[in-house]
Amino acid sequence: MKKSKVLSFYTVVFLMITIFISCDSDNPEELSQFENEISKEVLAKLEKAHFTTENARIIEFMGERGVAVEDMFLTFEQIDELLQGVIGPHEKQYRTTNLVTGLPRVITVSVDPALGSLGSDALDAMITMYNSENLQLTFQRVAFGLNGRRKANIEVTEFYELESGGFITLGRAAGFPDRRGNPAKGFGINSRWFELLNPSLAEVKGTMAHEVGHCIGFRHTDFMTRESCGQNINEGSAGVGAIHIDGTPTISDSSSLMQACGPADSFNNNDIIALNVLY
Ligand SMILES: [Zn+2]
Repeated sequence: MKKSKVLSFYTVVFLMITIFISCDSDNPEELSQFENEISKEVLAKLEKAHFTTENARIIEFMGERGVAVEDMFLTFEQIDELLQGVIGPHEKQYRTTNLVTGLPRVITVSVDPALGSLGSDALDAMITMYNSENLQLTFQRVAFGLNGRRKANIEVTEFYELESGGFITLGRAAGFPDRRGNPAKGFGINSRWFELLNPSLAEVKGTMAHEVGHCIGFRHTDFMTRESCGQNINEGSAGVGAIHIDGTPTISDSSSLMQACGPADSFNNNDIIALNVLY
């Protein structure tokens, strides 16, 4: 992919940081214009599940073809699966339909050396952040499988994607837990972010923790409004693919690590409540 180091002043000034996480990352290969078009049917499904679809597009990610939407990558199968968890109208939500099962459970994680010492150190810090909560899910680092050989349950890969429309996608999660109760297979971290904004260790850790949140079943706290991204989306009439977690707010929670746009770099009290309810 082409890398441009020439940035206009305005690009930087107007840039807002978005934590859009996908739990899969390889270089997202843009397909041809024709193949890149998302059908109205798929868009309608994503909207029904309360995704903001304005930048949704078809990409190849972690070896699969699917849709990049917000900071998620979802295969067409995953989109259908999301809609199977239909719940009552007007119900606010927090988590997706499937969760990681088989608790207590150790989830192995690894990071692509392409993300350098910052990626490596951030992964260690993220693991400490989760394990400090004494959940039934614990995270353990393993070596990254080179040449496409997976070794970890959740792999952190590198991708390079330019900023667009004043936003840069920091990470992209490869979906949510699957029907068998396994976490999503990983997420990508955008190395363009490193180059453009020189993030701190805490910021990269926070983004990784946010993406892991998706991989283990968290939706965005503000998925109904996207207010953390400076938007005010009208909420739909039905809640699909997202279920409210007891004891957490049903309104947006501005300091949550799981806001759509961040970056927060630590759990707030409601995040901790939610983690403890689920795991
Ligand atoms: Zn996210």
